[in-house]
Amino acid sequence: RKYVYDFAEGNKDLKDLLGGKGANLAEMTNLGLPVPPGFTITTEACQAYLATGAEPDGLADQIAGHLAALERGMGRRLGDPDDPLLVSVRSGAKFSMPGMMETVLNVGLNDRSVEGLARQAGASADPAASGGSDRFAWDSYRRLIQMFGKTVCEVPGEEFEQALDDAKRARDTTDDLDLDADDLRGLVDAYKKIFKEHTGREFPQEPREQLDLAIRAVFDSWNAERAMVYRRQERIPADLGTAVNVVAMVFGNLGPDSGTGVAFTRDPASGAQGIYGDYLANAQGEDVVAGIRNTVPLQELERIDRNSYHELLDYMARLERHYRDLCDIEFTIEHGKLWMLQTRVGKRTAAAAFVIAGQLVDEGLIDLDEALHRVNGAQLAQLMFPRFQLDHGFQAVATGIGASPGAAVGAVVFTSARAVELAGEGRDVILVRRETNPDDLNGMIASRGVLTSRGGKTSHAAVVARGMGKTCVSGADELDIDVPGRRFTVAGQTVTEGDVVSIDGTTGKVYLGRVPATPSEVVQYFEGELDPETTNDALVKAVHRIMSHADAARRLAVRTNADTAADAARARRFGAEGIGLCRTEHMFLGDRRELVERLILAREPDEREAALAALLPLQRADFVEIFREMDGQPVTVRLIDPPLHEFLPPLEQLAVDVAVAQERGEDVAKEEALLAAVRRMHEENPMLGLRGVRLGLVIPGLFAMQVRAITEAAVECTRQGLRSCPEIMVPLVGAVQELETVRAEAERIIGEVVGGSDIEVLIGTMIEVPRAALTAGQIAEAAEFFSFGTNDLTQMGWGFSRDDVEGAFFWRYLELGIFGISPFESIDADGIGRLVRIAAEEGRAARPGLKIGVCGEHGGDPDSVHFFHSVGLDYVSCSPFRVPVARLEAGRAAV
Ligand code: PEP
Ligand code: MG
Repeated sequence: RKYVYDFAEGNKDLKDLLGGKGANLAEMTNLGLPVPPGFTITTEACQAYLATGAEPDGLADQIAGHLAALERGMGRRLGDPDDPLLVSVRSGAKFSMPGMMETVLNVGLNDRSVEGLARQAGASADPAASGGSDRFAWDSYRRLIQMFGKTVCEVPGEEFEQALDDAKRARDTTDDLDLDADDLRGLVDAYKKIFKEHTGREFPQEPREQLDLAIRAVFDSWNAERAMVYRRQERIPADLGTAVNVVAMVFGNLGPDSGTGVAFTRDPASGAQGIYGDYLANAQGEDVVAGIRNTVPLQELERIDRNSYHELLDYMARLERHYRDLCDIEFTIEHGKLWMLQTRVGKRTAAAAFVIAGQLVDEGLIDLDEALHRVNGAQLAQLMFPRFQLDHGFQAVATGIGASPGAAVGAVVFTSARAVELAGEGRDVILVRRETNPDDLNGMIASRGVLTSRGGKTSHAAVVARGMGKTCVSGADELDIDVPGRRFTVAGQTVTEGDVVSIDGTTGKVYLGRVPATPSEVVQYFEGELDPETTNDALVKAVHRIMSHADAARRLAVRTNADTAADAARARRFGAEGIGLCRTEHMFLGDRRELVERLILAREPDEREAALAALLPLQRADFVEIFREMDGQPVTVRLIDPPLHEFLPPLEQLAVDVAVAQERGEDVAKEEALLAAVRRMHEENPMLGLRGVRLGLVIPGLFAMQVRAITEAAVECTRQGLRSCPEIMVPLVGAVQELETVRAEAERIIGEVVGGSDIEVLIGTMIEVPRAALTAGQIAEAAEFFSFGTNDLTQMGWGFSRDDVEGAFFWRYLELGIFGISPFESIDADGIGRLVRIAAEEGRAARPGLKIGVCGEHGGDPDSVHFFHSVGLDYVSCSPFRVPVARLEAGRAAV
């Protein structure tokens, strides 16, 4: 079996076998770009090694063969004492796993070849710089021992850091560059001692042994703890393995005519065309990333090394045409000779993604279908948040992880209780914690945003904030938080309770003071306030063009979840094609709570009927408003769903109030009756209790009143010349008999109200109880449409209480990688999705043409939209703000 490929043997489509880095190095080699020669050991070799614990037969020989060819090509031997070839050993999996796996540079250096390297570097450098060649060689050697010790032999990295600090202190400096060759020679001795102390052996002097051990370490790094967790979260299969690239070293730190840099073929921030990147003279790759010295803009390279600069621009243009996308590039210049070290399709901001996709269409490099694949709903969602206006000189004082997007401004508070208190006074607050836990839930709800100094994207704070749609920056570890002192310090400044900060949940940046925010121009466009034809905003033009194509391409319709005319109107502007869920319980709040209370407390039929009669006109007026707004479009109205005690005061509070009033000798007859009712209706598991269709079957007249209000509203709208298309939806059905019972009564009322007019009122059901999904064939006999309530279906399918688990323990599940995202956020395709599939298939088999949609939160989640498309649903329904995201994703799913 072939385990090793020369760069000239691969290409960019072999990522499975050669990993992303290896495949792209091969592609550049074949394009004739100057890539340092090397070879790639395949992911299959890694898989075989991980399965058996030993390198597969033949691998060692193949490596020897490719190494010999490399040595011939370079005219140097690995680790030759006089003129050594050095190589880097780099991991590179199919999917990028940033920072997860290992790299070892300068393999081939030992006590003898370090001298040879120094001589050769001295000979080739210009005389002015040659004084540094000894320094260069010893610095390279100490870097090898450090990296090799740490990654291959698990020597604690701090010990090397400590020795380096000691050497700098002895020189009274903090800059590595102040260490001369002798200092570095001493440091190599110190490093070797550290190496021996921890491994019980000398630092290996044999170059091939160094190489083999480094390759093995890269293989092993596939199964490092952090890599495994990352893969579980990102759903990267655990058995792919990594490839290993062995590349001839080229040096950017050989003097002023050498250097290293990164380049982008367009601006990855805005998408604008031009030359973007950074260059650092006399430096190696890590120095640019580590920010040890200040880089200069790439354009400066024209002055420093004109030939290399123009050569680089030429390659950039070729790569972009070849990949038909923004590329990012790492390069090194060694004594005026340009080397291309890496390229890949580059990461970019959300705005740049849209702008670049539009440009590439204009340039004829991609078509509009392809443009749809170059953007996604998460990026669009990001563009719909307000943005901080940073042109007033605001500087971030800390950068954490952008855990939940948005731009939040408020007074800092350090406890949940204070957050609730100040928010109660009408202040905007930002809850600042080291990390959050379930006790912070109320504080998080009360805050505009959450800022923590610990934890990543899956920390409690991050998970809960995303669930709430609340801005969150987590893991801003520059913050030194003193909770009892109600303050934190950052960048030498102290921020105390009540001081205002601004946090950006997209970039993770933290600012002191109130940063002004600009509304999103993309939202202005959706609102119809910005005309895409006349604006000169490149982003709006690109969004418009791509959205139009998504609308033309998609098969899924997109509706909205809206309970008010205002929400309905906004959703319609955002492109909704109907209402998929109008939750009528929201119409029972406010002043109307009293009427609902009367209904619940009614002992006699006439009391109950009076209460319902009072509610009827109010409900009818609500529906008239909504139908008017949605003129001509379907409106799914769901009959009341939640347990009725949600409309009554909480038991504990009421019991205390009554006891206190009794104590004072007040007349509490009415309150006692209420308390008795609350006690009577109390449920241990209300989500599984008297709610949904069960209410309709148990409380006489309740559903009937709603059906009448809906139908009368439709008749009234028709009289006004509008066209309303109501769809009455029954929640929480688990058995066809429930639906049949409700249906019989509803049909009677509809018949009565509609009379001879041609208004059509559909009657359908939610599928949100697992049993409903499993008996969908029967249920379809009594339903003209299905709408999946994936919130409840997830709750009941997993047995996860939807109101509790995210705050209580989901962070741990995410940390362990049991799932990569909350199943309440994105549909669990394997489990809950299977119920959806079964129900859709069996429902349509029983009633061909059955209309099927989804109205759980998942209706606006990008991955879930793709899933619902694949199941063949007719529409998704989501909150107004997510309608554009669903339109885009439905289009992407279709092309
Ligand atoms: C659902 O369960 O998915 C649903 C839409 O209903 P609700 O969220 O109101 O329970
Ligand atoms: Mg539900």
